[in-house]
Amino acid sequence: MPITPFSSLLDDAPGAATPGLGERTDAMLRGLWLLVAAFHLLTASWLLLRLGDGVDTLVLALAGAHLAVCVGCLVEQRRGRGVRAATLFVVGQLLLLSVTEGYWGLASLSRVQLVQVVPVLLVAALLGAAPLRWATLWACLAMLLGAWIDLAGILFRPDRVAHVVTDLGVCVFGCVLVAWLLHHSVTGLRESLQVARQHGVELARKRDELQLEMQEKERSRDQLVHAMKMENVGRLASGIAHDFNHLLALVHGYVGKARRAPDPATVAEALQGIDSAARRASAVSRRLLDFSRLEASRPQLLDAAATIDAMAPTLRQVFGESVHCHVDSGQVQCRVHFDPAQLESILLSLAVNAGQAMPEGGRFALRLGWLPDAGELSIQAADTGLGMSEEVRARCLEPFFTTKPVGQGTGLGLAVSASLVAAAGGRIEVESRLGQGTCVDIRLPARAAPVEQAS
Ligand code: ADP
Ligand code: MG
Repeated sequence: MPITPFSSLLDDAPGAATPGLGERTDAMLRGLWLLVAAFHLLTASWLLLRLGDGVDTLVLALAGAHLAVCVGCLVEQRRGRGVRAATLFVVGQLLLLSVTEGYWGLASLSRVQLVQVVPVLLVAALLGAAPLRWATLWACLAMLLGAWIDLAGILFRPDRVAHVVTDLGVCVFGCVLVAWLLHHSVTGLRESLQVARQHGVELARKRDELQLEMQEKERSRDQLVHAMKMENVGRLASGIAHDFNHLLALVHGYVGKARRAPDPATVAEALQGIDSAARRASAVSRRLLDFSRLEASRPQLLDAAATIDAMAPTLRQVFGESVHCHVDSGQVQCRVHFDPAQLESILLSLAVNAGQAMPEGGRFALRLGWLPDAGELSIQAADTGLGMSEEVRARCLEPFFTTKPVGQGTGLGLAVSASLVAAAGGRIEVESRLGQGTCVDIRLPARAAPVEQAS
């Protein structure tokens, strides 16, 4: 007999955890053995008290044997050998039942039959279908033996035989009925347990799949954000090259001035100029590098006005001379929960779109507003460019939707911006008419009310 804790008997798949059930079965069996032990202890004590020395020693011996079996079961269970304990109980009780039936016969035991047989069948049912079958057969044979003893006692008198046979029939039928009921209850319990466990496994698998899917989605979004950034960096690069040229021309000028300098003070002045031009050049290139860096999203409480003000020079860089760029943070001191680098990317993307929509020049205005009723912050980017047809406007937030020729548009700018804004609990609204310009309105939930408002 393998050593198995009883708690695993109801578990068809070993190792699968069904919290509480196994422990409850163990506790139930412990209680059963204690009750059976108490019953036999009481019976023995009562007999001793009532009959004193006249009590049958076999009765006492049997009560002692019952007690010993129950104590043995409790000890075995305590050692973690639940199956062995259950088997000991079934075999021990059936042996004692056989001895009792063989000695006293069926009729004298009919009152305690139920007390003896039901616990045995219950434990056998928990052990499995085959142990239950064998235990039922053994109990029925013990009853048959008891009936035989009864018949021998009445010397097989024909007028009493029918009575004993009826007794036997009722007892056997009761025993089989109880076994059948127990078998079906335990099997049903096992099946529902298995179904519940399968559901649990299925749920865990679905959860893992969902987690993987979410991770995958996050990764693709990061990649899209980076693609949008790179697109913007590409657009910025020409403006920056222009700036660089300007700074290099400045450096050349200072070098010429230093060469022609009549005195050391003028040389020092020229070197100072070169130094400051180099400083500005490195600031410009650092900004470009910052934009192109691939970074995971790091949302934080952010002062939107400060971010917009800091972005103003870069935004101006996007437009040529013919576009008037107006940035107005309105001193709205309101905080939003957003990744600063992503907000910069979105603003840059809007500026790039506006620049592309105003090839002949125009006006671009970026405004920050506070909507107290909705508790929202509004970032509006308006241009006086070509505008969009209703069909384009309806689709402009779709990923990869672009009306621009290859090399000029990827269809990522607005789509990625909309997804980032939506992830922060906000939304993007686009208003546009052909020939009348476009206004993109970003609404973000404010995390802290403005402390100071524009008048
Ligand atoms: P892309 O700029 O790469 O085409 P976007 O997602 O930034 O992708 O924009 C999608 C489309 O929306 C653009 O192709 C363009 O047709 C339209 N669009 C976006 N912004 C403007 C704007 N400011 N003015 C006119 N059309 C715009
Ligand atoms: Mg774009």
